[in-house]
Amino acid sequence: MSLTQFHREIHRCPRCTYEQEVVVWDRVDVTAEPDLKERLLRKQLQTFDCENCGETLSVSDGLLYIDQENSLLIYRHPLFREAEAELLVQKDGLDQLNELVGDLSQWQNLRLVSGDNELLEKIHLQDNGLDDRLMEILKVALKVRYEEEQNNIIEACFFLGTDGDILLLQTETAEKGWYMLEMPWELYQNAADTLGSNLPDLSGRWTMIDQRWAADFIRSMTE
Ligand SMILES: [Zn+2]
Repeated sequence: MSLTQFHREIHRCPRCTYEQEVVVWDRVDVTAEPDLKERLLRKQLQTFDCENCGETLSVSDGLLYIDQENSLLIYRHPLFREAEAELLVQKDGLDQLNELVGDLSQWQNLRLVSGDNELLEKIHLQDNGLDDRLMEILKVALKVRYEEEQNNIIEACFFLGTDGDILLLQTETAEKGWYMLEMPWELYQNAADTLGSNLPDLSGRWTMIDQRWAADFIRSMTE
């Protein structure tokens, strides 16, 4: 049985004020419906085109990604960008979600993300058998190195996929704009060998694994 759910909503185009009915996806069960995963990865479920002016608009309500096969749940909500995610989890923000999910301990990975890029990155990591905690730690290390050695600030960085033994990270710096950064697989492997056994067990708990989490983890390791 598929857990996928959507509803329809009237959206007003911020550019031309035209109003149209759009489909808003609340839950996407990719084990039951793999084609929806493809559409999600192409951002087709998260965006629509204004019928009047053609502007591409995004629907950024709460969206639950359900991957039963890999015991992975990812909940995307724009509120996580601003608010303290932990606070939201403790308050009533996730009550409905937890009611739906039922026994959380059955799920190994419960992740909270604030946007579509973060959501897609988690899916790509899962597809490549990589650990999102290690990836965030590597990104923090990369960021520090860039700032110290090149005085260049990484504004954004998302894992996209692999090419042989190279990890591809879509990266944005003030100097170069968006470009593809290549990270040798070895770096990931080294991080896994060194830190793997120190990573906390997060199964059954909603967690936001982002750069702030990684910075906290690194701090706790060096104290
Ligand atoms: Zn429009």
